[in-house]
Amino acid sequence: MRTILIKLPRDRCDTDYIKQLMALANLAYRECEVWVPDVLKNIQYQLYGFKNFMGSLVFGTKPKRWFAKTWVPLETLRIYSNGSTKGNKSAPVVLDFRSNTIRLRQVCKNEPGFVVTIPMPRWVIDRIKEGGDIKFARIGLKGNEPYLALIAERKVEPYQPSSYMLVIDVNAWNNGIAWGLIKDGNIIKWKPERPRLSEIESLYDLSVRLSKEYGKLKRLGLNETEKARRLWKEIKKIRRKIYAKLRDYVQKLVHRLVRKALRHKALVIIDDMIEESRRELIEMKLPSGLRKLYLMYTRRFVKLLITQLEWYGIPYKLKRLPSTICPVCNHELIQLPSRTMVCPSCGFKAPRDLVPMHWVVRLAKTNGWALSLFIVTDNGR
Ligand SMILES: [Zn+2]
Repeated sequence: MRTILIKLPRDRCDTDYIKQLMALANLAYRECEVWVPDVLKNIQYQLYGFKNFMGSLVFGTKPKRWFAKTWVPLETLRIYSNGSTKGNKSAPVVLDFRSNTIRLRQVCKNEPGFVVTIPMPRWVIDRIKEGGDIKFARIGLKGNEPYLALIAERKVEPYQPSSYMLVIDVNAWNNGIAWGLIKDGNIIKWKPERPRLSEIESLYDLSVRLSKEYGKLKRLGLNETEKARRLWKEIKKIRRKIYAKLRDYVQKLVHRLVRKALRHKALVIIDDMIEESRRELIEMKLPSGLRKLYLMYTRRFVKLLITQLEWYGIPYKLKRLPSTICPVCNHELIQLPSRTMVCPSCGFKAPRDLVPMHWVVRLAKTNGWALSLFIVTDNGR
């Protein structure tokens, strides 16, 4: 399942109406049927028609609080270029592949026959080409701006893995992630990957410095001045830049790893050590804001990776792999400067990021584990 967010034209949308629909969706989640006289019947019908889908993957978990913001689930009608259709004829969202447009019927404004037409994103066409389908959409507000979320689903059986394994060792961003390609029990390629942290850290420092300056003005009651406003704008711009850089890096890295797995028909093993990474970051005395940011993008990386592995039917397994225990003799390893690990008992020596790969090789050689790896029914979640 993959999702894309599309910003809707603000001037064509009544945000109060969308808010009202979101409140109704929240009620529907709690199995309360509230029929509001001033909202169009067909929209309300389709909302309560979703009751049976509650708790399904498409709509995630139910909102934690009453009146929490719940995005409104919507059915879609798909009209393909040869004229054939799929879905409910009266669905509020129409994906028209003849004109490559999306029509939103009566969900942007509470007015009979009100339609908002937006261009079809390239993303949708690509997902359809890959055999996906978009049965559902959701509409909602994000920071008071109206958005449409399209949810692409694809049923795919994971392939039978070849003799290749792609091991992905996830650290926090400062140590990056490391991947290793293993063939027939040998590590044939290995590489640590890191974003350009110096760039991100200097942007972060700048944003902190400007925030302090802004705070000073605010305390003096000068936050309405032209200078303060410009400063605030600048801070927001820098923050957006940091997010964009990290997001971009995550997407490109996931894309490359997924291509690699597909090329070799590899079994993917993910060692996701978020907790350990968090501790490592605290020990490094990184500023807490930066620490949070790195962890957030580490989590995002794992989430996006799993989403895409599932989309392409790449078999994967989540597996904790030790990086401080000797893969030869089980003795505790000693860390030398520059993240090199050494075993005082048997002399094993390797970069820290490579230790998990050695563990996979060792475990794969012991029959039982190799066999259990190839039965990919439970992905360890
Ligand atoms: Zn050892």
